[in-house]
Amino acid sequence: MARTDLALTTLGHRIRHHRTARGLTLEALGAEVGVAGSQLSLIENGRREPKLSLLQAIARACGTDLGDLLSDEPPSRRAALEIELARAQDSPVFRQLGIPPVRVTRSMSDETLSSIIGLHRELQRRESEAIATPEEARRANTELRLRMRGENNYIGAIEQIAQQQLQAAGHAGGALTHRTVSTMAERLGLQLIYVSDLPASTRSLTDLENGRIYLPPASVPGGHGLRSMALQAIAHQLLEHASPTSYADFLRQRLEINYFAAACLIPEGAGVEFLQQAKKERNLAVEDFRDAFGVTHESAALRMTNLMTEHLGMRLHFLRVEEDGAIARAYENDGLPLPQDVTGSVEGLPVCRRFQARAALRAQNRPTEEHQYTDTPAGSFWCATQTGSSASGGFSISVGVPYQDTRWWRGRETTARASSTCPDEACCRRPTGEAAARWSGRAWPSARVHTHMFSPLPRGAFPGVDEIEVYDFLERHAAEPGLTRPPRR
Ligand SMILES: [Zn+2]
Repeated sequence: MARTDLALTTLGHRIRHHRTARGLTLEALGAEVGVAGSQLSLIENGRREPKLSLLQAIARACGTDLGDLLSDEPPSRRAALEIELARAQDSPVFRQLGIPPVRVTRSMSDETLSSIIGLHRELQRRESEAIATPEEARRANTELRLRMRGENNYIGAIEQIAQQQLQAAGHAGGALTHRTVSTMAERLGLQLIYVSDLPASTRSLTDLENGRIYLPPASVPGGHGLRSMALQAIAHQLLEHASPTSYADFLRQRLEINYFAAACLIPEGAGVEFLQQAKKERNLAVEDFRDAFGVTHESAALRMTNLMTEHLGMRLHFLRVEEDGAIARAYENDGLPLPQDVTGSVEGLPVCRRFQARAALRAQNRPTEEHQYTDTPAGSFWCATQTGSSASGGFSISVGVPYQDTRWWRGRETTARASSTCPDEACCRRPTGEAAARWSGRAWPSARVHTHMFSPLPRGAFPGVDEIEVYDFLERHAAEPGLTRPPRR
């Protein structure tokens, strides 16, 4: 509703208020000011703009003045309710629903109006949350990370569900096979189908009606992620996720499905047993954990953050740093100083150049983990870093612990040592005086635009997903013959 329309609605209410307070009918007031009652009715309903001379006549007839009629205050609580409802029903958010607006009658109680307005307010609130700004998204992400840190990055309820599902599917231990993952899906009445035309905005897509989970082709490079993707799709159903109502909700669901997949690929019991044994032998290493369960280095490292504090009482940190030095993903409950923006977010920020997570990226193709001690203003830390590369460039995965816990880890004998004073800018953020003197004013780099870690989400039932493509895809595939829904066991 435009500003002027709103002003007209308020004006109409003020005129009606003064008219009825004076005990005048529309016709009586109309006769007095020289217009038809029906004309007056249009004005009172905010649908016609009165001339100034008419307003002056109305004010006189009602025993008030022009300034009072033109005030932008609703004349009564009832009028305030009616004005707010009119505004809400005229909003694009409401109109796109295609629901016919409520026509307010005199017999409608204030309580009824308040209740309808309450629903409208909630609708507006959810809508504005669903199109979170990048800043809101970063805040939500930080809140979630901090909450998880308070809980040792451990979710007992999901561990239990994973345990039950693995057992029911007959998983005996060792690396989880594709076959077992399929069985887990079949038990839920879902069939895993590999296709090469998934909508670009989705990683997997579940046809709830026909009981199918569509996944990218098994032959894609790095196909070991497939079990994980299938498990994540299954998790949405097992954890009874509904369409997310906010960005925070969306992030929480994503965390939960990732957690479920991790808890299946490295089951709690076997994982903790492995880590405890390695600790006893003073031979903890991410690469061994990775190889024992056949997962990626990153998955193994992240899984350590779920299990080590909860079960081994050890605090630790995890970092994934991209080639440009920016943190892609981080977790710490050991006090490692990380860069932070005003929202408390660490993702996308450059990590200290002295950290091995970053220094290791400068070295070429190291096939195994490297180790380093780093002295920081918050104490000394030790870490193990593995580099790798993806389609978007090189990256490093690091897991580390405070100095006193290095005795349990392989690689503690390293002589590599660095000193970081970040966030002090003099540490690694400013060029040396010599370099600055040499090149200042003589260099013109053209910056690469950073793709935002979190961009605003489009509206729709599933944030970030192109619904049109999704429904097109399902239409295309639902008709395929020879696919029947597996019976739910
Ligand atoms: Zn630094």
